Amino acid sequence: MIQAKKRFGQNFLKDESVTEKIIQSMSKDDLGIVEIGPGLGDLTRKLLSVEKKVAAFEIDLELCRYLQREFAEAIEEKRFILHCSDVLQKWKEGSLVEYPYHMVANLPYYIATNIILKGLADPNCRSLIVMVQKEVAEKFAAKEGEKSFSALSVLAGSIASVELLFEVGPESFEPPPKVTSAVLKMTKFRDYIASEEGEGCFENGTTFEQFEAFLRTAFSAPRKILLKNLSRDYSGEKLTQIFEELGIPRQARPHQLSVSNYHLLFNRLQ
Ligand code: SAM
Repeated sequence: MIQAKKRFGQNFLKDESVTEKIIQSMSKDDLGIVEIGPGLGDLTRKLLSVEKKVAAFEIDLELCRYLQREFAEAIEEKRFILHCSDVLQKWKEGSLVEYPYHMVANLPYYIATNIILKGLADPNCRSLIVMVQKEVAEKFAAKEGEKSFSALSVLAGSIASVELLFEVGPESFEPPPKVTSAVLKMTKFRDYIASEEGEGCFENGTTFEQFEAFLRTAFSAPRKILLKNLSRDYSGEKLTQIFEELGIPRQARPHQLSVSNYHLLFNRLQ
């Protein structure tokens, strides 16, 4: 029997009604699926049963050997492509796969935020349905004005529609995690960087990394005044002038600005 390994964030989903709800929330199109961390393969089996082509990345070699035995037929028929490797390493080389895909995963919580950000930035990734810690899901899904509106909400809202679909209690997993989980759905309507096929989110010449750094400064003290946070990196005089031109109150707090106002502000400050 395979024991769950804490260091790989292993909490196996044992509640079939939850896997069923995940399958029901998926887009009905022909794009391939990428699953991160198939674990013991419960979600994978469901994905393959709805005739999806699945590519998966699993870091744990013991689980990988188990999956190779369990899914020998699907692997042989090339319906299931299993990569026994660290997904974050693969992203260092470019997209996870060479075709457009939907990400579906019960994510390892210790790197969930990082994986979501990488998925959003991967131009081949068209949508994500991911199980994460409830607080992380709330941060990504928050709307302007809400307490949990954060740099992550702006990064996701810039290119995707974001919905928190439903919560999942610890009893649905083996071993049960200490926290409540939630399933998050993000559907991309554009990319950060413009491509031949579509528009991007930034003006020419600016990069995702610059936008991320700008948001880090903007939300560095989330309850304080935005103008003050930004004055760590930009001149106060320039900021006051741009705030005035854009009609943003000087006393505004970081969570009170809309996603589009963050774009305007960022583009003006470059
Ligand atoms: N999908 C299974 C399920 O729902 O029961 C397992 C989910 S478990 C929360 C997370 C899975 O991600 C584990 O199988 C773990 O070994 C794998 N994992 C952790 N870090 C990883 C990484 N960097 N790259 C690929 N897989 C990883």
